[in-house]
Amino acid sequence: MTSLKGDQGTARALNRRLILNEIRRNGPTSRARLAEQTGLSPAAITFVTTELLQEGLLVEKGERRPIPLDIHYSGHFVLGLKLMEDRLEAVLTDLSTQILSRITLDLPDHQPETVALYAAQAQKELCEQSGVATENLRGIGMGLPGVIDARSGMCLSSGRFGWKNIPIARMISEQVRLPVWVDNDVNAFAVAERLFGRGKSVSNFVVVTVGRAIGAAVVLEGKLYRGRNGGAGEFGHTLSEYRGRKCECGRLGCLEAYASERSILRHFQEISPRHHNIQIEGLIRQVERRNERILNILEDAGSRLGRNLADMANLLNPDLIILGGEGVRLGEAFFEPMQAAFRERAFDCVADELPIVIDDWGDDAWARGAAGLAAEHFFDFELQPSETAPASNP
Ligand SMILES: [Zn+2]
Repeated sequence: MTSLKGDQGTARALNRRLILNEIRRNGPTSRARLAEQTGLSPAAITFVTTELLQEGLLVEKGERRPIPLDIHYSGHFVLGLKLMEDRLEAVLTDLSTQILSRITLDLPDHQPETVALYAAQAQKELCEQSGVATENLRGIGMGLPGVIDARSGMCLSSGRFGWKNIPIARMISEQVRLPVWVDNDVNAFAVAERLFGRGKSVSNFVVVTVGRAIGAAVVLEGKLYRGRNGGAGEFGHTLSEYRGRKCECGRLGCLEAYASERSILRHFQEISPRHHNIQIEGLIRQVERRNERILNILEDAGSRLGRNLADMANLLNPDLIILGGEGVRLGEAFFEPMQAAFRERAFDCVADELPIVIDDWGDDAWARGAAGLAAEHFFDFELQPSETAPASNP
């Protein structure tokens, strides 16, 4: 008997997930159409959708029959936190990661205890600012650079913050008393792209971010590929030049040592003495003024990125490549050589009709990604939060 119940429970969970994801991908859908698309019987569709409507996860859109059903995006809220070197960027979003409210808190240091306290502070202020009651928050997602064991919410290592084996999800959860999901920031970005962005309608895609560092996240058969212990996607540390420039990771010749925004900036400072103090905004102005030195650096950096991207595409044969991160502001002078080098190196069958698109979420991409970690469990609800602290005593 128990096993029958268990099977029924599993089937019910699978049907719920099937229906929610069908509507997420295709937008508002009638019950009849859902039955066609999912292959479930009309009776099963009625049963499951009634349950989802009662729980407030679905809403009926309009009154014209057949009435389309949609996800009740605006009825549920999550928080996205992006941990930066000197600050915590926080957003409160609806279930589709549309940002309703945002705040940036300057951090005095990167101690995990400090980050947990500031996360709680951000949650409090965002709820006040947006008028969303804390009990309507479904959870918190946080993205940070480093190797993260997303299942346990443990930061295994983050060179940027000097962290090793920090149970950061539990530490935040103890402060906020909400489920907390933590992942590498590029993975988080890919999760949001998979749920609500351009990755919504494809099974296999790669997200590459160019910013201070270069990262990648790989989605295979609709699932984020994390590797054995969360270390997958260290694309910035694939080889660009044997025994070449020194990388932040300590190795020589990594792609990141040539093509990250930070490396491009350093390179320009080195070869253009009058710009030895220039910052990224100034560098962008030099690009606009067609400064030949910076254009040459960007051509070299873009080509290197394109070559390594082609290697990755040759390995994975993805449906789509999404480029994001602050580096997208480097513009055509960076991306044209990248595209050219990519087409030269990638196999024809891999490169033909493979779209390489530039993300258009802009500065919000990281925070939306983090919010996506928390929104994800509505659609893949067998995923457990990294850590859930026991509810505090009333
Ligand atoms: Zn490296």
